[in-house]
Amino acid sequence: MTQSIDNQLVTAHGKQFRLMISAEEIAAKVAEIGAEITEKYAGKKPLLLSILNGAFMFAADLSRAIDTDLELTFIKLASYKGTGSTGKVETVLGLDMDLTDRHIIIVEDIIDTGLTLHNFLQALEKESPASVSLCTCFFKSEALKYPLSIDYIGFDIPNKFIIGYGLDYDGLGRNLPAVYQLNE
Ligand code: 5GP
Repeated sequence: MTQSIDNQLVTAHGKQFRLMISAEEIAAKVAEIGAEITEKYAGKKPLLLSILNGAFMFAADLSRAIDTDLELTFIKLASYKGTGSTGKVETVLGLDMDLTDRHIIIVEDIIDTGLTLHNFLQALEKESPASVSLCTCFFKSEALKYPLSIDYIGFDIPNKFIIGYGLDYDGLGRNLPAVYQLNE
């Protein structure tokens, strides 16, 4: 992986990506969403259900931007390989908590077609939570194919492949503090 001196371009597995959203812009947005959640969930001890791997960075930042008691746990689902969706969703790491009567906030890195969450929400409903809301850092609204009501959206972005801030391209790019979009 290489990065230009001014951080405008990065190269991963021979593909070039251009800076799209800076770390500062992301931090400001996360603070905004955190404040909204703090206000709405004060006293409710929400359970942040974060979806690995991509959402680990957003979940870490978001949880620190929320100023009320909360719990945070991680689950792993897989539906993506390379730069195109496989259309399959599999639960890799299951849930080991009782969700009955809990206020759940699903924390996702990015919603693309919406398939991952559409399937997961159906499974979640069977667990009788008190409420379920959806929070995503990035949203490709043009790519959405499955109906989803999203409560908190960081950035509505064009339908292009991105890396950084937890998101990878075949393993590379997760540790970038900013977000880069594929240069085509
Ligand atoms: P969906 O099921 O909404 O189509 O896809 C959601 C998942 O696909 C995300 O959690 C993420 O893992 C992956 N994904 C979708 N778009 C992108 C993208 O632009 N970059 C990366 N790195 N992963 C993506």
